[in-house]
Amino acid sequence: MNVPAIAKKSFDELQKKPEFLCIVKKMLKRLKKISNALERARLIHKSIEEYNQEVFSHPLVKELSPCKLGCSACCHTQVSVTSDEAELLAMHVNNGLEIDRERLKSLMLAGNDDDKYFAIPYKDRACIFLDSAGACRVYEDRPSVCRTNAVLGPASQCDTSRTIQPTRLIRTPKSDMVTYASFMFSKTSGSLPHMVGKALLIEVEIAAN
Ligand code: SF4
Repeated sequence: MNVPAIAKKSFDELQKKPEFLCIVKKMLKRLKKISNALERARLIHKSIEEYNQEVFSHPLVKELSPCKLGCSACCHTQVSVTSDEAELLAMHVNNGLEIDRERLKSLMLAGNDDDKYFAIPYKDRACIFLDSAGACRVYEDRPSVCRTNAVLGPASQCDTSRTIQPTRLIRTPKSDMVTYASFMFSKTSGSLPHMVGKALLIEVEIAAN
């Protein structure tokens, strides 16, 4: 499973604490009862939002975090999604949301390889769901990673146009446990372009290293 690094870090640190492990177990139990992929993805996103509230409702976080609709500073990085999240995003495209399919294909060529992805010129590795003004066009259904990749301080610290720099991430450990459960549950997961492309039945030939 391609668990996002932040969720894995939280799980590794907190799995021995019953309060946190319980979140993973409960989530897995609930996911097993739902047969529809879109419903599962939305349940995960709803739970993350509920746990995020505990963190993001703090006055200092409200004041100092730039992360909101319209900020796209982190939307030029690799985002891991589950197959359920890929289905949810593909649904928007199948329902008429226009995307640049040629650019999607070129992003799919990077597969799940970070080095290949970051070798793509900055402007060409913008998420296929960003609009020209830099807003997310699937904000309500954005993946778990996009909901937990939040920072304190200026958005410029998330800019990967010149380098990949460490950012002052806001810790969201309970939401990370939910994300971890969703990746545990998912049969497949991977980078957003790769997974969404697959869900849209787009095929590209990925060269072996
Ligand atoms: S899905 Fe939305 S929030 Fe996530 S990387 Fe793409 S544009 Fe940004």
